Amino acid sequence: MSQLKSTMSNDNVTPTDATMSTTMHVQAQPNEQEKPPSRQPSMDNDEDDGTPDDTESLDSNSSRKDTSPRSGRNFSRGVTMNTLVQEGVLEPGPGVLSIDYLGQKYCGDLLPDGKIFWENVQFASPSSWATYIKKKINPAKKSGCGWNSVKYKGKKLDKLKLNWFRKNSGNAVPGLSPASNCDEDLVGQPTTLILDNKMVRERKSIKYSEIKLQGSLDPNTIVEFEQFDENMGKGQPFSVVISTSVLLIIDFHSHLTTSEVAGYLGGRWNPNDRCLYIMQAFPCKCKLCDQENAVIVEQEISNSLAARQLMRVGWYHSHPTSQAEPTLRDIDVQYEMQCNNIASHPTVAFINSPFDVRDSTRSESVYSAFWVAPPPDGSPEQAYGVPMRVKYTESIDHTIHQDILHELRLLVDYYKLHTDVITFTKLWRGTMTYLDKIKLSLTAKLPKDKSGAQLIQFVQEILTKACQPGSLT
Ligand SMILES: [Zn+2]
Repeated sequence: MSQLKSTMSNDNVTPTDATMSTTMHVQAQPNEQEKPPSRQPSMDNDEDDGTPDDTESLDSNSSRKDTSPRSGRNFSRGVTMNTLVQEGVLEPGPGVLSIDYLGQKYCGDLLPDGKIFWENVQFASPSSWATYIKKKINPAKKSGCGWNSVKYKGKKLDKLKLNWFRKNSGNAVPGLSPASNCDEDLVGQPTTLILDNKMVRERKSIKYSEIKLQGSLDPNTIVEFEQFDENMGKGQPFSVVISTSVLLIIDFHSHLTTSEVAGYLGGRWNPNDRCLYIMQAFPCKCKLCDQENAVIVEQEISNSLAARQLMRVGWYHSHPTSQAEPTLRDIDVQYEMQCNNIASHPTVAFINSPFDVRDSTRSESVYSAFWVAPPPDGSPEQAYGVPMRVKYTESIDHTIHQDILHELRLLVDYYKLHTDVITFTKLWRGTMTYLDKIKLSLTAKLPKDKSGAQLIQFVQEILTKACQPGSLT
């Protein structure tokens, strides 16, 4: 259950807020169709705490080639072992690399070209070495791990890489962070739809099996989901329950601007029933390409999560006009996040599509949730993980907490200052305004009682007010 947003001021709460209930009740409604998971992600400890390490995290695929000109957000594809040797971060030598696995320590040599030598075998990357060792020790292990389980003189490679990147990129937020991740080119292209004066185009998805030569693919390429298949022994490895108030925040956030938005999901993990409970959304109130502010926003969210004793169990972002399927970059971001959290809990990603050009008269947003499975055995090391559609159960909040209203107001106050804010008084389709559109979409996630009606009234008031002349002062 979410904690109160105790750190937030209630100065701006209106009488309308005060009429709303001050408690939020969550009733999980288990999906009868969900079956017990048959496949479970490893939860081995990956902390560098000096304890024996049985790391089985998913590889961060750091040795992939960076095909993006925006390598600041995609750094893990650009920095290789060879880079770090050339830059003097790593000094070649015998036995300087190590892997701790199942109580044993394995030491390898770092060669001058960044390759690794161990027991008369040469490895091109930390991933291939780690996979080799783990399969040798435990043949049942299917996925290896790389930068986050191999150490150089006792320090984890991923941290050394991160430090190097911080010093050299000039960017405050390195790598794959939801707060600084955005799928550029999802908007702004010619032309099948106008979204509040912005021209957008329809984008086609490719199948996962069509990802062949990663080096030639645009990271904005959208990939269709693969499905878990219980009958094939590959069921969803955990279940997910999400509060409707979380979906409400995501949807509201996504409707405010023609640009992408993102945020984090806070919740709890119950290992006994293998269920991830998503209880609160933490919107990133920053432009997604503003890496400097992203650091501050992420820190604030970390503090908020800690204050509420919630774990960062996932993230969300919007595809304003594209389908709610992940791009290759989204797959990377999610994989990286899973990697970071794997010691304690699973992680899921939600995508919200408020103005999908393929169904431009639809008023209700489309949501999807996904998790990334490791690349299949035998696939090249550069292969992307597999985006798996995750089924989730909605737990209905029958009353709306005041915190939710406060968050909605903060979002409006933030976005109304920007040029890409949606003008809610404008017409969306026919005689319907953007305000009509968002109200219809939000209504689908609200309880069908008085509290739902009150929230819609509240939304109407704050959005109408934001559109009035002088609202920026
Ligand atoms: Zn995306």
